Amino acid sequence: MIENENRAIGFFCPACQQAVIAEKSVFELTATNSTISCPCSKCELKLELQDHLIRMHTPCLFCEESHVFTCPLELFLSEKIIAFSCGISQLDTCYVGKREEVYKAMDRLQETVDVLANQNDEKSIFMNEVVMQEILEEIKVIGERGGISCTCGSQQWNLNLTYSAAEINCTVCNGALKIPATTLSDVDDLCCKMTLTIQEKKNA
Ligand SMILES: [Zn+2]
Ligand SMILES: [Zn+2]
Ligand SMILES: [Zn+2]
Repeated sequence: MIENENRAIGFFCPACQQAVIAEKSVFELTATNSTISCPCSKCELKLELQDHLIRMHTPCLFCEESHVFTCPLELFLSEKIIAFSCGISQLDTCYVGKREEVYKAMDRLQETVDVLANQNDEKSIFMNEVVMQEILEEIKVIGERGGISCTCGSQQWNLNLTYSAAEINCTVCNGALKIPATTLSDVDDLCCKMTLTIQEKKNA
């Protein structure tokens, strides 16, 4: 380890979404507590010294909480790169290490940030994509074994999807059965059903 080498610290600002990468000398880091602020000045990462440990308060773009990471000072100052990850999103939320390694890692993470930002812009079509997928899979399985029918006697149906539900419609009488698709318990509920019955729609 080269004593005078700078350490880079990188994270994404939850307020303005930009990458913040700062360099601190080993001298600075071991002398006193320090702070790294985003240029937007809305958030900052705090470093606190505590004996041979360094405690880092990191703003997190992914869950918008702040995480506290504790790391042995020796590792903090010597590792090529250390990734600290958000316990909620499982994504890396902060890197510490050699300058070029931190820049590389932040570049990779930027791609994820971009994807997530796009998703938020478009507002996903379903409230919970994963649950909707599982619900559709289940409906398909039940349908394939002939388990879907309407009280009018029809076994012809089609599927309409909304933001939070899958609706099975009888093609004969237009009756509908709405299957909620927002939480994992919706999936559990559907999994234990052998058959699905649409209530006939009686024409007035
Ligand atoms: Zn910012
Ligand atoms: Zn987080
Ligand atoms: Zn029907």
